[in-house]
Amino acid sequence: MRCKARRQIPEDLRKKLQEDKKDLYEFFKRIKLVSDRVLRAFLRVPREEFVLPKYLRYAYVDEPLPLMDGATISAISMSLLLCEYAGLKEGDEVLEIGTGSGYQAALIAEIVCEKNQEGEIIECKEKKPVCTIEISERLYRYAKENLERLCYTRCIEIIHGDGTLGWPDTSRKFDAIIVTAAGDQIPPPLIKQLKVGGKLIMPLGKGFWQDLIRVTKKGEKEDDILIEKLEPVRFVYLKGVYGVEK
Ligand code: SAH
Repeated sequence: MRCKARRQIPEDLRKKLQEDKKDLYEFFKRIKLVSDRVLRAFLRVPREEFVLPKYLRYAYVDEPLPLMDGATISAISMSLLLCEYAGLKEGDEVLEIGTGSGYQAALIAEIVCEKNQEGEIIECKEKKPVCTIEISERLYRYAKENLERLCYTRCIEIIHGDGTLGWPDTSRKFDAIIVTAAGDQIPPPLIKQLKVGGKLIMPLGKGFWQDLIRVTKKGEKEDDILIEKLEPVRFVYLKGVYGVEK
């Protein structure tokens, strides 16, 4: 597959999307939604390449959009806030649970992966700093195709499986873990795979609204954690062994 291949979008629609994106960027900047580092990632990732083709014209409306198998691509502001709350910076190793379309993983990659002088992400030869797990096979294939087409697989590894069980290579530890579906417990394997000082962001609860929480690992012991409540949010439910739905 050719790297950096783009979807075919009529020129007038492409122009409208660029204007919508610029307006949204200026709005986020004015209200100081997130740091410049996260805003730069927003500018670099083409969300129009991740939404389902029938929602193309809404790519830069700050709303969640339906994907497949009951999943949604989160609202843009939420995707940016998840990066901000996790305190991501270049060089971090990050695990995402719930790849969906791949958009959030691409944002993470733009922040943490090493780039060349032109600002392009460099191919990682050994372990890739961004790892993402998707439980739905259809979405896994959709996200993989999106991320490969845009060259993000240079530094993102994507697998199909139950993310509540953690990354299969248990020797890996992460600076941040971002869970993009709501669970009613913090999956224990995820706490194990956090580095000391690392942060896990996830929506917690099984009601209509959930609490977005940040868990900071303070020491090696599994219960040596600090839990902060961030804000009320609404996500789809986490499936799997430590999820809400089996
Ligand atoms: N981050 C995505 C949006 C995710 S929606 C984006 O940027 O587009 C939540 C996703 O979590 C759905 O795709 C759903 O299939 C997935 N999911 C739910 N439970 C999961 C689990 N246990 N492991 C991995 N993925 C899971």
